[in-house]
Amino acid sequence: MQVECKENFDISKLTTFKVGGKVAKVYFPKNQQELIHLLNTLSEYIILGNCSNVLISSQGYKGNIILTSGMSDYSINGAKVSAECGVKGPMLSQKCAEAGLCGFEFMIGFPGTVGGEICMNASAHGQAISDKLIKCCLFDAEKKEIVYKEKSEMGFGYRTSLLQGGKYILLSAEFELMKGDTETIKELMNRNLESRKEIQPNLSNPNAGSVFRNPENDSAGRLLDKAGCKGMKGNNSEVWAKHANFIVNTGNATSADILELMYKMYSSVKEKFTIELTPELIFIGDMTEKEEELWNIMYKKIQK
Ligand SMILES: Cc1cc2nc3c(=O)[nH]c(=O)nc-3n(C[C@H](O)[C@H](O)[C@H](O)COP(=O)(O)OP(=O)(O)OC[C@H]3O[C@@H](n4cnc5c(N)ncnc54)[C@H](O)[C@@H]3O)c2cc1C
Repeated sequence: MQVECKENFDISKLTTFKVGGKVAKVYFPKNQQELIHLLNTLSEYIILGNCSNVLISSQGYKGNIILTSGMSDYSINGAKVSAECGVKGPMLSQKCAEAGLCGFEFMIGFPGTVGGEICMNASAHGQAISDKLIKCCLFDAEKKEIVYKEKSEMGFGYRTSLLQGGKYILLSAEFELMKGDTETIKELMNRNLESRKEIQPNLSNPNAGSVFRNPENDSAGRLLDKAGCKGMKGNNSEVWAKHANFIVNTGNATSADILELMYKMYSSVKEKFTIELTPELIFIGDMTEKEEELWNIMYKKIQK
């Protein structure tokens, strides 16, 4: 089976941060058969959706990346929704609204895929992707076989799921939404979009969403704000003036530029509150020694 593959591919074009170097091989499966073929045949890979929660190294990556964002199959039957891992959240949110289904209104505002959202247990505006999930069709990368897991087996917590261990790859997911009125659903989606517009950068200011996770019973944005991070400058990058938990790539920022600014933010909060924030962003690729040092300081607490 021939799956589209680009060699020595500049991944910065496809990340919402517009950061990232050359990747030895990037694969673009268009359907589940192609994805399963890759998962069965490649000995090593990183799987990504829309690259909206990742910081990819400017040194690139000497391995294989599989991008699922071309896998766009979904179906809606009554209140049941199934979607392949590469289906984009905003599109699915719109289609569900048009079908008079509520529960996905939160998805309208950020550029994830179903795979990335389940991996991160994405949430916003009081809703989470895990809320309406029924079951997942997964590829067990160790046994190289397809398995099904119910929501209760998916290990969901705040920004965590079973998918983060690397053993399982999401192929597709099934949800059950609730019946509602399309106009009311669309009004809520518009309110969600409006509230973001006021404080968050849109993608014409390249970013990857929240930089740090919320610590228990607090908000990373609040702590960063109180520690004076709003508008903080780094090389080719800055903290968004209206929201202290977003970094924007203001020019040709490298992964080192972003990491150094993250470390300044992390240090400001640590100094003021003695709280050590943990990145929500995921670093991928070949790190320099300096990058590895900074990343290990900030990330060590949740590394498995
Ligand atoms: C402007 C902006 C606003 C945002 N707002 C929010 C928000 O309100 N709430 C929120 O939760 N997030 C938000 N995000 C972050 C991001 O969009 C979400 O985390 C999203 O779920 C990531 O999806 P993705 O497809 O881009 O994943 P990627 O960034 O491509 O990957 C993220 C992780 O998911 C894994 N992954 C991807 N696909 C699969 C798969 N098929 N199987 C197993 N693992 C997989 C990857 O390996 C990686 O570890 C925002 C981002 C931006 C840019």
